[in-house]
Amino acid sequence: MDYNSHTDGIVRVAVALVNALTPGEQRGREFPVPDDLAVAASGAVGSVYSGHHGIGAADAAELAEVAARLRVVFRAVADGDVDAAAMATNALLEESRARPMLERHDGEPWHLHFHGPGGSVAGDWAASCSTGLAIVLGSEFSDRLGVCTAPHCDRVYVDVSRNGTRRFCSTACQNRVKTAAFRARTKAE
Ligand SMILES: [Zn+2]
Repeated sequence: MDYNSHTDGIVRVAVALVNALTPGEQRGREFPVPDDLAVAASGAVGSVYSGHHGIGAADAAELAEVAARLRVVFRAVADGDVDAAAMATNALLEESRARPMLERHDGEPWHLHFHGPGGSVAGDWAASCSTGLAIVLGSEFSDRLGVCTAPHCDRVYVDVSRNGTRRFCSTACQNRVKTAAFRARTKAE
């Protein structure tokens, strides 16, 4: 997609946080609440920003609540209800009081960060993720947020493919569905 790279990054963090912190199903199996939210949250952010500092238990617990709210946005878009997605995102933006600030670090050029009011790690990620989803929803790519359509999987994704034809959270789920369709076909023949 053609957002700037930092926006891409924070949208990917939103995806990673929802997938790591919200219970449900993943690739055909039950996905429980993680035993250690701090490890799960740190891993999610670290999967996008490898240089980030670990997330502590209190921030991780707060992020789990934020992640549940972010999931609502993906679900609404997947259900074709962009109005509901926009309203849920606006509520998050208002609560996280996202504040843009140009920053320059680690040899990168100036780029926009989004902060919450409290200076907490969770508050900053809540502000960043809400803003990232708001930018997607406010663009021509508003339908690019999705929930995996494979059976027994509800992990989310952002579709950055050129054609916007992604339907699964992972190649694992894509292959599961392909294999099932193939079996059904051979059985029928
Ligand atoms: Zn999946």
